[in-house]
Amino acid sequence: MVSNIHWLGHASFRIEGDGLVIYIDPWKLEDGPKADLILITHDHSDHCSPSDVAKVRKDDSVIVTVASAAAKLSGPIEGVKPGDERTVKGISIRAVPAYNVSKFRSPGVPFHPRESGYVGFVLTVEGRRIYHAGDTDCIPEMESIDTDIALLPVSGIYVMTADEAAEAAAIIKPQIAIPMHIGRGIGSLTDAEHFQEKASVAVEILPMEK
Ligand SMILES: [Zn+2]
Repeated sequence: MVSNIHWLGHASFRIEGDGLVIYIDPWKLEDGPKADLILITHDHSDHCSPSDVAKVRKDDSVIVTVASAAAKLSGPIEGVKPGDERTVKGISIRAVPAYNVSKFRSPGVPFHPRESGYVGFVLTVEGRRIYHAGDTDCIPEMESIDTDIALLPVSGIYVMTADEAAEAAAIIKPQIAIPMHIGRGIGSLTDAEHFQEKASVAVEILPMEK
C-alpha cells in the first residue's frame, strides 16, 4: 500500500503512480527521477527549496503551491489556497489548512500562522488518497480529512509532537500513518517510534531514501 511512497527525509517525499513522478516538499535531494508534479506546502526553506526543485524539474513539470512559495519559484505553477481543489495531470489534489495553535516563534506569533494560508495536500494516486499534512499542529479541520494514508509531522518545536500526532491520527483515522518532519536535524527516529507506540492506527516508519 505504501511501496510507491518514498520518504526522502524531513517532509520530503517522492510518490510514483498513475504513470507520474510526484514530489512533495523536495529538500536536500541527491539525484532522482524527474518530476511531473511538484507540490510545495509553504515557503519555508526546508519545504520550498528552489535549488532542489531545479534538480528534479523538467520542461513540463507543474508546481502546485501557495502564493508565498510561488514567489520564490518560476515556470508553470498552479497557485492554491486552503480549500482549493485541482486536477493537475489527471491527479486530484485538495489543498487543506496547515497552521500552528501551540508552537510560537515569539509570544503570540506562531511559526505557521493560520492567516499565512499554508497548506497540506490530499492527493489521489493509484486510487489511494494520500494526505501530506504540511507544517501543522493538530487542528479541527483534520476532522474533515478523508484519506487512506496520512503523512504526519512528529518532531514538535515547529509542528505537532509525537503525542499530538497520535491525537491527530485518532481524528483522521487513516489506514496507515507515516511519521515525517524528522531525520534532517529536526526530530529523530525516537519521535517516530514514540508516535508508533501512541497511535491508535497502524504506523509505518519508512526508511529514509536518497
Ligand atoms: Zn515551516
